[in-house]
Amino acid sequence: MRIVLLGAPGSGKGTQAKLLIERYHIPQISTGDLLRAAVAAGTPVGKKAKATMDAGKLVSDDIVLALIRERLRKSDTKGGFILDGFPRNIPQADALDRLLRTLKKPIDLAVLIDVEFGVLLKRLTGRRSCPKCGAVFNVYFSPAKVEGKCDACGEALVHRADDNESTITSRLEVFDAQTKPLIDFYKAHGKLRAIKGTGEIDQIFKRMVSALEEAPAAKAARARVERKTGAKKPAKTKAAKKPVARKKAKAKR
Ligand code: AMP
Repeated sequence: MRIVLLGAPGSGKGTQAKLLIERYHIPQISTGDLLRAAVAAGTPVGKKAKATMDAGKLVSDDIVLALIRERLRKSDTKGGFILDGFPRNIPQADALDRLLRTLKKPIDLAVLIDVEFGVLLKRLTGRRSCPKCGAVFNVYFSPAKVEGKCDACGEALVHRADDNESTITSRLEVFDAQTKPLIDFYKAHGKLRAIKGTGEIDQIFKRMVSALEEAPAAKAARARVERKTGAKKPAKTKAAKKPVARKKAKAKR
């Protein structure tokens, strides 16, 4: 199953993607994560992208498309993938469409996670993550038990460099101007589903699954997982045990 997750920064795409990985056994492809890894590794791409990311603007389409092409070549994408944070504008969506058409693997569905502006701001300014195990906390909605330390592994939590107020404002403006038009793009292709992105994380996930399972590809993906694991219901997974899910953290109070 091939899914695009659409939503503003802070809408919970990354959190939902982690749960989708567990359910459908397909990888999450986040261009934000790929770019942050390139920045951390000091690669030429990372050096080019850093200032743009720090300003909350979009990195050039050429760079992002090259990352995506390379990532989609890997064999773990054969059974499908979850695109998180890509495409971010119409030219990227067109390029993705062309690429997947040549591979004969079109997108099955694009799911919009809808969250109002005020909630997005709190989620982004309050977000803290663990650089070691990837657990995500929020100082307003789901704080760590010990301030600044990961509940799961004790590592010091970090605040993403672009989660400061001026960059956040710019990222949200960029979403409105450049990414929102993708809602109409996928609607016109008959592939858009929208879900409410507030409430408890597993409640949002249920909405996500019911939106996806209207598509035949989702049923086929689940059947594959069941055949592979021999189980009707997946065993309790790593993601479900993460603090964010275990505490039934409220995505919005
Ligand atoms: P994210 O983690 O998805 O919020 O992305 C963090 C930052 O990486 C964004 O603010 C952009 O600067 C850059 N970025 C991520 N994905 C894309 C994309 N598809 N196109 C352009 N820039 C991107």
